[in-house]
Amino acid sequence: MRKPFIAANWKMNKTLPETSEFIAEFIPDVKDTSGVDIVIAPPFTAIGIAATALRGTNILLAAQDVFYEEKGAYTGEISPLMLVDLGCAFVIIGHSERRQCFLETDAIVNRKIKAAQKAGLGIIFCIGESLEEREAGKTFDVLNREIEKGLDGVPPEKMVLAYEPIWAIGTGKTATPPQAQEVHAYIRERLNILYGNQSNELCILYGGSVTPDTVDSLMACRDIDGALVGGASLKAESFSKIVNFRKEP
Ligand code: PEP
Repeated sequence: MRKPFIAANWKMNKTLPETSEFIAEFIPDVKDTSGVDIVIAPPFTAIGIAATALRGTNILLAAQDVFYEEKGAYTGEISPLMLVDLGCAFVIIGHSERRQCFLETDAIVNRKIKAAQKAGLGIIFCIGESLEEREAGKTFDVLNREIEKGLDGVPPEKMVLAYEPIWAIGTGKTATPPQAQEVHAYIRERLNILYGNQSNELCILYGGSVTPDTVDSLMACRDIDGALVGGASLKAESFSKIVNFRKEP
């Protein structure tokens, strides 16, 4: 049985006081929530203060990115061990904004996943097609390439996938539940080819303009196990509504 997994990706948002304020408001809203893995990925600068505030709660911490080397002359980069030191349980890897704005290739994503796994971090591995690729009928080819190259030589340990159609990220255009379910079923099939029965344990999240209004119908889909939430995770009130989604259709 897969446990629902709901993660916040704050991207480049929130100062230290804003982080503390969010957490103080959020903890009471979710302290009685059970049967859901709740994860917050603040910017690097706020991970330390968030770790202190979240200690002893039912909320886990993630980072939004990581570098693949352990240490050395890589100005500006953060290693997997540094994230473990800070108390991160997960790291987001392969987000489309990293792929598009920072030119991360599938090969780089693969190295990051391997390095993070080696340090014991859980992975939130993001994949998804652009509008142009969808309209050209290439959605499944793109996903297949990202899965095969990103997960080359990667065991299915502490791994969560996030299907994030790029056309739905930050645009207010959520994929419809049937659109998302179709792709999630395809991803599960590919994971089955890679990992056999172990693939049944892997959560596949949907990401792309998820809100409190859309989460219930998405979570009612058979192969959608959770959500990666950007914009709607920035306010404690809306993110706690998403975390406390209605479990029965
Ligand atoms: C994201 O960036 O991972 C995301 C899903 O953003 P939004 O919810 O704002 O579309």
